[in-house]
Amino acid sequence: MNKQQLSTALEKAGRLRLGQFPTPLHPLAQFHKKLNAPTAYIKREDLSGLGPGGNKVRSLEFLMAEALKQGCDTVITAGGQQSNLCTATASACAKLGLKAVLVHQGEEPENLVGNLLLNRLLNAASVYIGEASHEQRDAYLPVLAKELALKGQKTFIIENGASNGRGALGYMAGFIEIMEQIELHQYPIRAIFVPGGNGGLAAGLVYANALLGQPLSVIVVSVEYTAPVLRGHMQRIIDEAQDILQIPVFCDVEKSCRITDAYMGEGWGHNTEESMKMTYDFPQMEGIFVENVYNSKPLVAMQDFIIKEKVSGGLCYLHSGGFSSLFAQF
Ligand SMILES: *Cc1c(COP(=O)(O)O)cnc(C)c1O
Repeated sequence: MNKQQLSTALEKAGRLRLGQFPTPLHPLAQFHKKLNAPTAYIKREDLSGLGPGGNKVRSLEFLMAEALKQGCDTVITAGGQQSNLCTATASACAKLGLKAVLVHQGEEPENLVGNLLLNRLLNAASVYIGEASHEQRDAYLPVLAKELALKGQKTFIIENGASNGRGALGYMAGFIEIMEQIELHQYPIRAIFVPGGNGGLAAGLVYANALLGQPLSVIVVSVEYTAPVLRGHMQRIIDEAQDILQIPVFCDVEKSCRITDAYMGEGWGHNTEESMKMTYDFPQMEGIFVENVYNSKPLVAMQDFIIKEKVSGGLCYLHSGGFSSLFAQF
């Protein structure tokens, strides 16, 4: 399969234009110099051009297309209070004239900072459900959808951090974009470092990479789950994406990428000593901010791989956004 064929299959699955693509892909001059390393690049998914930007915009292009197709007027999603998905969803809803309902654990804080402030400015409805596990929070979404249906609202639910087959189509399109930029500029990029939370971003990239004959090696840096658990999530998401696209090519995650859980510390929401240091070092080197929970960790991994000479050739770091949550992390 070539890029054009994959691109056609993705358009057929239903896509809206919400972001500003292509996002830049450019060299990291100082990082490269400091480490005296293989040439390092950055893919600026922080600059995806809707709301605070970030990786969720690509998933939403496909998920919101489905919501409109189903005739929904309200989108419900859930996440931690600083969830980038919630704010990206509220931004997309604003642009499309839909109502966003965001479900968070805990109580509404007196001072709205970071993404909570943006959600308020976007006029999203925020629902706080008190102390609850992820599972309890997610189980509440269909209950809420039923309540809203009684008021005449037709809802679309985005579950699981948008990490499902349809959401993953976003990074299949993203992968095509990256390959086009590499070819256009003749960048010597051989490997790409990406964060793995629920695994939607990584699944999309890994699947597209496999379909196009593995032009890159993908190194997935887990920020939340152990490598086997993340691998399981990614496999399920790829199988779902395959069902949507009707492409009969089996992609085995185990063989198609490298997943490391060595940089996540205690997992989601926790920084490590190195990731904390990176939130200072990287802006001081490149003038680009990274946040603490997701995207400082793949950068630490890329640095460590360079120092330990675990990789060769040009390397690319995928910056997945999250700038607005940074304000609530310190
Ligand atoms: C959600 C998110 C991720 C992780 O995406 P998954 O698809 O859940 O793996 C990474 N970085 C940022 C900034 C995010 O908001």
